[in-house]
Amino acid sequence: MKLAINSPRGTTDIYGEDIRYRDFINSTARNIFKVFNFEELITPAFEYTEVFSRSIGEETDIVQKEMYTFFDKKGRSLTLRPEGTASVVRAAVENKMFGSGNLPVKLFYIGNMFRYERPQKGRMREFWQLGVEAMGSDNPVLDAEIIWMLSMIFQRLGFRNLTLLVNSIGCLKCRKAFIKEFKKYLKPKAGGLCGDCRKRLGKNPLRIFDCKVAGCRETAKNGPKIPQYLCESCNTHFTGVTDSLSRLSVNFKISDSLVRGFDYYTKTVFEIVSNDLDSAQNALGGGGRYDDLIAQFGGPDMPAIGFAVGIDRTAMLMKELGIGYGTDTERIKVYLVSMDNDLTGYMLEILKLLRDSGISCDINYTSRSMKAEIKKAEKLDFNIIAFLGEHEFKNKSVTLKNLKDFKQYTISKKEVVEKIFEIAGRI
Ligand code: AMP
Repeated sequence: MKLAINSPRGTTDIYGEDIRYRDFINSTARNIFKVFNFEELITPAFEYTEVFSRSIGEETDIVQKEMYTFFDKKGRSLTLRPEGTASVVRAAVENKMFGSGNLPVKLFYIGNMFRYERPQKGRMREFWQLGVEAMGSDNPVLDAEIIWMLSMIFQRLGFRNLTLLVNSIGCLKCRKAFIKEFKKYLKPKAGGLCGDCRKRLGKNPLRIFDCKVAGCRETAKNGPKIPQYLCESCNTHFTGVTDSLSRLSVNFKISDSLVRGFDYYTKTVFEIVSNDLDSAQNALGGGGRYDDLIAQFGGPDMPAIGFAVGIDRTAMLMKELGIGYGTDTERIKVYLVSMDNDLTGYMLEILKLLRDSGISCDINYTSRSMKAEIKKAEKLDFNIIAFLGEHEFKNKSVTLKNLKDFKQYTISKKEVVEKIFEIAGRI
């Protein structure tokens, strides 16, 4: 009997062009991480459940409903990571990364995350994130650098129509004053909230801001504004962040209702949203400061800040907006075609020349009709066909056909690499 098994709901196989988009996103981010002096950290894909339940917050959707939690054969409770920060903090504390002269510790990660959510466009059960954590300083300049780095990633990827939202949700002390007023405002409106939010109202009303029900979010947004309740020190900190962002010429908008969905955030929070996406799934990335989390994990009492970017959503939007992956020369793919087996030697010469020059290329192994080869080249996303026939062999040349405009050029072997790069600039 044949097996007819699909990938699990909310997961997908990634191949072909999608891999090229992801490679481009990851390498663009990696280059920027290097420039900002961040080092990579790889943590396990699963952790003991408390790593997430205690840090992300018991009342969050993630902990309440979305974690892939299971018991191993010894009865230990484990959870597939739903996000990166908690694991990075656990790893930094466990591996004693905090010395006295190395602060802030600056780490980045790229990995798959798992949340049992209702799958829809831009929302998966397994998805990929890249993120950074800078631990050991509460200097507002660091906040601005982190936000600048987030904005730089999207700029380098070729996005233009994005908004960077920034807010401060204060420290634990000044947030208390806000929550008191917020509860007062919400109590008479409790009947209009969803069941989950009615529970949140008593235990953790901030989570109403990121409820999946739009009506609950709206009600929260129309209430008192967190920034008005900031203590003096949080206020000064936030001014430091916005002043530094302005000095760095980073465009941002203050959003007084931005809180973000994790309990561990303090002070600065931020999000980068696309104006081309539906508002339920328009966040491409976001983050914030978490000044109390490291101590909570048994580490030193040390402030920190980080962000995470959704790789799948970013790749999806790049494709929708027609933003290419890679520079022109990185995107180029050449298909070397010859119909004549006697020309194998010349074919290998050209193949070596192109590959040694960093041009991605392939050859045809079976000679079929030229028409069939063009069809195949188009199907496999080649941009240029390099044709080698008797005439080309005799003249030590190559005929290039740009598959976008079908223009054709016969070029000497010596100049062919340069010509390919020139065509690449127009693809
Ligand atoms: P968060 O970890 O919730 O702050 O999310 C950071 C980014 O990860 C979001 O802005 C999304 O781009 C992405 N993301 C979060 N959850 C999902 C999901 N279920 N599917 C796809 N991308 C997601």
